[in-house]
Amino acid sequence: MRGLMQEWPLLVHTFIDHAKIHHGEREIVTRKVEGDIHSTTYSEIYSRSKKFAKALKELGVTKSDVIGTLAWNTHRHLESWYGITGLGAIYHTLNPRLFTEQLDYIINHADNKFIISDISFVEILENIQDKIPNVQGFIFLCEKSDLPDTKLKNVYSYEELINSQDDNFEWVKLEENDACGLCYTSGTTGNPKGVLYSHRSNVLHTLVANSADAMGIKSTDVVMPVVPMFHANAWGLSFSAPMSGCKVVMPGMNMDGESIYELLNDHKVTFTAAVPTVWLMLLQYLEANDLKLPYLERVAIGGSAVPRVMLEKFEKNYDVSVMHAWGMTEMSPLGTIGAFKSGMEELSFDEQMDIKLKQGRASYMVEMKITDDDGNDLPWNGKDFGHLLVRGPFIASKYMKGDGGQILDNQGFFDTGDVATIDELGFMQITDRSKDVIKSGGEWISSIELENIAVGHPDIAEAAVIGIFHPKWDERPLLICVPAEGKDPNKDNVLEYLEDKLAKWWMPDDVVFVDEIPHTATGKIQKLTLREQFADYELPTA
Ligand code: AMP
Repeated sequence: MRGLMQEWPLLVHTFIDHAKIHHGEREIVTRKVEGDIHSTTYSEIYSRSKKFAKALKELGVTKSDVIGTLAWNTHRHLESWYGITGLGAIYHTLNPRLFTEQLDYIINHADNKFIISDISFVEILENIQDKIPNVQGFIFLCEKSDLPDTKLKNVYSYEELINSQDDNFEWVKLEENDACGLCYTSGTTGNPKGVLYSHRSNVLHTLVANSADAMGIKSTDVVMPVVPMFHANAWGLSFSAPMSGCKVVMPGMNMDGESIYELLNDHKVTFTAAVPTVWLMLLQYLEANDLKLPYLERVAIGGSAVPRVMLEKFEKNYDVSVMHAWGMTEMSPLGTIGAFKSGMEELSFDEQMDIKLKQGRASYMVEMKITDDDGNDLPWNGKDFGHLLVRGPFIASKYMKGDGGQILDNQGFFDTGDVATIDELGFMQITDRSKDVIKSGGEWISSIELENIAVGHPDIAEAAVIGIFHPKWDERPLLICVPAEGKDPNKDNVLEYLEDKLAKWWMPDDVVFVDEIPHTATGKIQKLTLREQFADYELPTA
């Protein structure tokens, strides 16, 4: 017997419909790419996204067409997503930090019909125009008067397109499993692979990501998504914000400490989210200028492991609660978040920080398991580590166009490529990426843990650890450090600092200093490039 409840497909435009009716007056503030601060409301966003859908339709865009968006977090970028998805088309976020060969590859692979872009990216597009012949036009997120002087063909002003329409437009009828959004993984090896979200997966992810033990955003919150919309849907904030009716502050293109602080303070932001590198810049700015964060209550940090110093500074010096989250593009992206369980509120500060350093508990609808190399399940005891696999309704089942073939095991689990432990209470801790773990004499050393301890050294700004060939142990750790500004650490004092914090056999065999550590397009340390850079490196212990 079937249930007798209403059929109400889970569609992404319902978020903005809801916000318009129930939170129409609530403000969305943007630091525009042009530099000025702009203010609008959910009501306006709704109306303009309808006008944009109409304009796209006139340009010939129809259901299932893929529209690239090469843009920072702004109100216009947000409107464009609702316009695109309400028409049944698919937004495809283009990460401007990708190498140009990767950009033209993904634009062609996904068959982008139009590209919507901030004016700041005109040069990137000019450089690849000849390689993306199927793109029919470029829509710049600006007024007609601000259109760049460009050799690109078929250029439109977003504001002009919107101003030429009224908002009398019915969202196109869709099924909840229709494709909605597309994001390519950063592709540390081989070509990037496309993750194709459906309306249903985006809605389910939003409900889960915004539950009380996860991001828990309320209408009274002021939310600043610093994590870009091109990084796994801004971790769902583009949808959970209108669902909750919170005020939103869009930071645009400036993510330096001063710009972020200014917005946090001027708009009394209560919740924000980004990768650790952004928070590193903010904390440095706060310290250098002796500033506080009186309004900020919670910060979600993910994408890379949170170093202990960062965690403790937020919690102790600024009274901001850190929510350490783990996920990936293939998971929409949220998988786990470190909300306390009953009783943990009473633990000592240090014990609480130990828990918060873990990547957290699985959200509802995320099943997890850890396995050994033969696929056997490992126990949840916080000690045994193995391959982390996940299953659920907002986790990829295949990549775009079947790239990479079959990606699920015979029980339907997806291998995340991460190595992790899970403790008795279900708190997962990432040991490493399976490719980055250092295999020393048959045992594994976690590069992430070494890096996190090393950045606790007051004279080190950033640290990366890679495995270097060793004739006896196979691999041994090499610690690569960027000195903090004006500091001059040396190998001996760094090793001395690590000595009582690590097991003896985890101690790096050498320490080197560099001006810069390379990062991927999503802000992670680029281990592949480092391994290439140090391919011929000989350890003094070899
Ligand atoms: P992406 O799809 O680009 O977001 O990358 C996902 C990968 O980032 C994961 O598989 C992890 O290796 C890494 N990652 C994400 N969040 C964390 C975290 N909190 N701690 C450690 N690694 C993380």
